Amino acid sequence: MIFAKAAESLGYKPFPMAAANSPSPYTNPDGMQLGQCQFCGHCERFICEANAKASPQVLLYPMLQKRKGFELRLHSHVTRIDYDKKARRVSGVRYIDRLSGEEYVQPADIVILGLFTMSNTRQLLLSGIGKPYDPRAGTGVVGKNFCHQTMSGVNVHFKDRWINPFLAAGASQTCIDEFNEDNFDHSGLGFFGGGYIYSNITSGRPITKRIVPPGTPQWGRKWKQANADWYAHSFNIYVHGSWYPHRENYLDLDPTYRDAYGQPLLRMTFDIRENELRMSEYLTKKTVEIARASGATIVGTPSPRKGPYDSRVYQTTHVTGGTIMGADPRTSVVSPHLQHWDAQNLFVVGASVYPFNAGYNPTGPLGALALKLGDDLVRYAQRPQML
Ligand SMILES: Cc1cc2nc3c(=O)[nH]c(=O)nc-3n(C[C@H](O)[C@H](O)[C@H](O)COP(=O)(O)OP(=O)(O)OC[C@H]3O[C@@H](n4cnc5c(N)ncnc54)[C@H](O)[C@@H]3O)c2cc1C
Repeated sequence: MIFAKAAESLGYKPFPMAAANSPSPYTNPDGMQLGQCQFCGHCERFICEANAKASPQVLLYPMLQKRKGFELRLHSHVTRIDYDKKARRVSGVRYIDRLSGEEYVQPADIVILGLFTMSNTRQLLLSGIGKPYDPRAGTGVVGKNFCHQTMSGVNVHFKDRWINPFLAAGASQTCIDEFNEDNFDHSGLGFFGGGYIYSNITSGRPITKRIVPPGTPQWGRKWKQANADWYAHSFNIYVHGSWYPHRENYLDLDPTYRDAYGQPLLRMTFDIRENELRMSEYLTKKTVEIARASGATIVGTPSPRKGPYDSRVYQTTHVTGGTIMGADPRTSVVSPHLQHWDAQNLFVVGASVYPFNAGYNPTGPLGALALKLGDDLVRYAQRPQML
């Protein structure tokens, strides 16, 4: 409410962002039930003990388990998709039962790859499906267009207002869209893209959430005092911004490091580039203007994104690309129907198919893509061909 009021005072139109948790008990059209959010503030990283978060183990698997022919095999680690390059088809997957250590071959008419952004790319590379991207020659497709999300923000501290960060609802947030992508005039700004600016209360966990004013020492009595003074009186205003692909940002197989199954790990060659640095600088300034308009006792030190890229620091988990979709097999991995250009019965779903990171968090459009894929799979099952 504080953020919304500040944003409105500057002429913006704040609105609540969609989130996957339910404010009240809810039965969906499939007859599956969600509980009521308890505002415990843990759900952005943990399972929901109130069953109020719309995740597959609550809404999907129990429903599918009632269907004849459905089987969920737990502890299965897929190591390879079997691929016949000549026939341009896959014939199934190999997986290791993590309990027995035995390898199984599962034949399949259709394989759907959905292992998360990076593992989708890695699995295609491990299985030798599609041409790996070569940044020097600019050829190949698997591993290219890997992007992150450009996050930045500023903290605000309110001496006389109780924020109570332990009463929280994960991803629920209030945001503005005026500076997202093409929603504003970019003339003379020198960058593409943008982002949404938002505030939410989440993860008030004692170790995670330590928002203290600028100048606070990082340890000792004064640090403890600042925590006691400000823990319940502070929150962040953030930017989640776009990230455009760069020729030298890509994924490939690591020549040295391997996983427990002896397979090469994925290697990320990546840095933040001029476009994202400029965009972040601009949007962070807008964020500070909202922070100042909020009437905060203290506005923290703004933190626009700086280089070099450092994967150790939390900066959202919203990575995209690597197996991108497109209209041209020479420049993309899958078709707009998520069908692999080089293996007609292989479909890839996940944020790995996004050609770039468009600013918004990935999972909403990803759900929409998965729904659309469902329709396409029905069509494919009736008439197997390139869709
Ligand atoms: C801390 C955190 C916070 C997030 N917050 C948000 C948010 O606020 N908003 C948002 O839009 N998105 C958020 N995301 C991103 C969101 O979780 C992903 O976009 C989404 O889960 C991707 O769905 P997916 O089905 O592609 O992959 P996943 O949900 O990761 O599912 C992939 C599955 O494949 C399995 N798998 C992987 N490799 C193998 C293998 N070799 N063999 C067998 N199985 C395998 C994995 O175990 C997993 O179950 C967040 C992510 C994290 C980690």
